[in-house]
Amino acid sequence: MAPAARKIIAKASAATLLSIAASLGLALTVVPWLGGVVDGNAWLMCILCPLFIAFPASAWQFRQTQRLSDARAEVERLHRQLVTVHGELAAAHATLLDKARHDGMTGLLNRESFLAALRQAMVAGEPGTLLLIDADHFKQINDSHGHPAGDAALRALALAITGAIGAGDLAGRLGGEEFGVLLDGMALAEAGPAAKRILEAVRRLRIDSPSGKAISLTASIGAAGLASGLTVAELVAEADEQLYRAKIRGRNRAVFALDMAAVA
Ligand code: GH3
Ligand code: MG
Ligand code: MG
Repeated sequence: MAPAARKIIAKASAATLLSIAASLGLALTVVPWLGGVVDGNAWLMCILCPLFIAFPASAWQFRQTQRLSDARAEVERLHRQLVTVHGELAAAHATLLDKARHDGMTGLLNRESFLAALRQAMVAGEPGTLLLIDADHFKQINDSHGHPAGDAALRALALAITGAIGAGDLAGRLGGEEFGVLLDGMALAEAGPAAKRILEAVRRLRIDSPSGKAISLTASIGAAGLASGLTVAELVAEADEQLYRAKIRGRNRAVFALDMAAVA
């Protein structure tokens, strides 16, 4: 017999014994007080009635109580399970969201997230500078050392960029071998040293190649200042124009929209 059923029978038996005792007690006090006599039949009825009424009634009652408590325990278990699953789902959602915002290869913000952050900064109206950074002659790196070495160079480039900017600045991969940096709170006129740090960090890179010969890199930068009235597309176009100038002036340098000054 199941332990739960044994427990119910034990409790119902105890309740029946109590009922028999109560019936006998009542009969032995009330009947003589009313002038009657508790004879053999009365004794029998005092035992049989509780036995046939109290036992099934209390057994049924205890069973219902047991079922109710089992159901409550099951609800609590399901609730705990739900809380766990909900937590896992929230974590998975956060991971997915994070993945959707970042570039899989470099871990930087992807184009959409970077431009969205840029848009937010422009709406806030605070000073800032956009740097468009493009690896120089990158096709040659792929052609000479293979695509995997090119990928490694892009990852190293991303690390060099993030290492050269401040904690409040943002970096994103805009596509291919082109990156964007938002120098937060820094006007275009003050952004020269940051651009120079990036150029130097890229120049210092040495990436392993299958031939054993270390790959070195340079990059060109076009810079434009965040200004009221400009759209994100106009700001990017402005920085892109300066990037183009940096390329035609010989690459491995930064050109600023302000006065066309170049930082080498
Ligand atoms: P420039 O100095 O004018 O920018 O020359 P470039 O060779 O860097 O520019 P171009 O636009 O001619 O070529 C870009 C190269 O970047 C070609 C493309 O294969 C490479 N590239 C773009 N994305 C990736 C990538 O994810 N991995 C690798 N390995 N190469 C990439
Ligand atoms: Mg390039
Ligand atoms: Mg390019």
